[in-house]
Amino acid sequence: MSITKPYDLPCIENLVGGELLAPAMGGYIENIEPATGQVYGLTPNSCQKDLNLAIEAAEKAFSLWANTPAETKAKILNKLADLIEQNQNELAKAEAVDNGKPITLAKNVDIYRAAANIRFFAQACTQFSSESHAVENTAINYTLRQPLGVVACISPWNLPLYLFTWKIAPALATGNCVIAKPSEVTPMTAYLFSKLCIEAGLPAGVLNILHGSGATIGADLVKHPKIKAISFTGGSNTGVAIKQATADQHKKLSLELGGKNPTLVFADCDFDRTVNEVARAAFANQGQICLCGSRIYIENNIYKEFTEALVKKVEELVIGDPLDETTQFGALVSKQHMHKVLSYIELAKKEGGEILTGGEQIKLEGRCSDGYFVQPTIIAGLKNNCRTNQEEIFGPVCTIQGFGSDEQALALANDSKYGLATSIWSQDISRCHRLAQQIETGIVWINCWLLRDLRTPFGGMKASGSGREGGLEAMRFFTEPKNVCVQFKD
Ligand code: NDP
Repeated sequence: MSITKPYDLPCIENLVGGELLAPAMGGYIENIEPATGQVYGLTPNSCQKDLNLAIEAAEKAFSLWANTPAETKAKILNKLADLIEQNQNELAKAEAVDNGKPITLAKNVDIYRAAANIRFFAQACTQFSSESHAVENTAINYTLRQPLGVVACISPWNLPLYLFTWKIAPALATGNCVIAKPSEVTPMTAYLFSKLCIEAGLPAGVLNILHGSGATIGADLVKHPKIKAISFTGGSNTGVAIKQATADQHKKLSLELGGKNPTLVFADCDFDRTVNEVARAAFANQGQICLCGSRIYIENNIYKEFTEALVKKVEELVIGDPLDETTQFGALVSKQHMHKVLSYIELAKKEGGEILTGGEQIKLEGRCSDGYFVQPTIIAGLKNNCRTNQEEIFGPVCTIQGFGSDEQALALANDSKYGLATSIWSQDISRCHRLAQQIETGIVWINCWLLRDLRTPFGGMKASGSGREGGLEAMRFFTEPKNVCVQFKD
């Protein structure tokens, strides 16, 4: 709901044409700290007028930026990465307040990765090359990879600055101008980032950041005829809405969508390490990472022992104020999301699930007494085809099931409309490679989880999306390949 600025709260501003601007029509959305449930700021509820200004600024900047030498682009992007690192404490605190994630996670994962994303693509633009195909004694083809123009980057609330920069950096590195929209739920670090872009000397209009609701400014942005490509990360239903809204406009789309990721634990795994990593894979960021392993399959002959160890490990997690450096497990991002997660726990019980640990909302003492905290929850006794095991919950809820053979493990893992990521835990490396080939997900981790190399293709299949981010995939997505064929003179 849009409100006019009624009281004195810190206000986020849009970045348009190199300036920080209030929304054109003066509408704002309340920004809530999930750990306390209190409004702590206001976010612009941008409208069509803001979008038109941003498009105009981006179009104006395009020719200059597209023709800026790669070394100059890299210099500016590296300066931006330096500034993120220099301001990491402020950014990590802002992320923890805005999102509810533990501050140590924000610093060591989110903010660290935001700087790494920018630095990676700063280097990439100086190394990017294109193909050449010679036809013997006749002709030479070479491929130009040119920037697309003005592109849209839309990111979700779970890893706010991390995913925001993961899209923006390759778009800028390849010479495009960008209109970016962070989630209205977690806008703060994108706003702080706007200020760093100005300080880094990014030319006016090259990056424009519009805040506001997905249903209004997000939908208008994707449909805008001047937008040539859309890089989107978010829910599968929103991905479908974007596909439908843009179907007749021939835009390039990169869609990174939801997941319901399987974790396969075999009896020959490195037991203690696997318990620790499977718990981390299920509950990092309160289970709000698209890559979290929320369907855990355990080989029958270690099922009891492994389950007991997993429950014990999860019960040791330190739940508390995200701003406390000892906290390992913070708040869910919003009241609405907390109620969605709790409703899935109720559904699991109705479907016959047994709650092995967790299952309840938590009331903390003091500052966080009205925060959105839910216990890390493990559920057993459910069939694979029930809604709890088929729908994305995107919270601190995982289920466990047993399996008796590699074939059964594979069938259970693939029995999902999603196809984002899998982790396999076994010392039998032949089995791991065999399964990796047969599993229907875009990413397979063997004896690890969330070990990222930014050069690798990142993304999912089936309802988890289309297209890939990362490394050359992202550089190719944000450029138009044009073949030039030159015949030799006789
Ligand atoms: P949403 O799809 O609700 O929102 C994602 C972004 O899209 C937000 O900025 C949102 O704005 C905006 N948006 C919403 N509706 C539209 C629209 N019609 N047109 C254009 N933009 C729109 O996802 P969530 O933010 O709830 O994020 C959680 C989802 O993201 C989960 O499904 C998760 O699995 C997925 N995800 C996937 C990842 C991957 O790499 N595959 C990584 C991380 C998350 P606003 O928030 O303001 O409504």
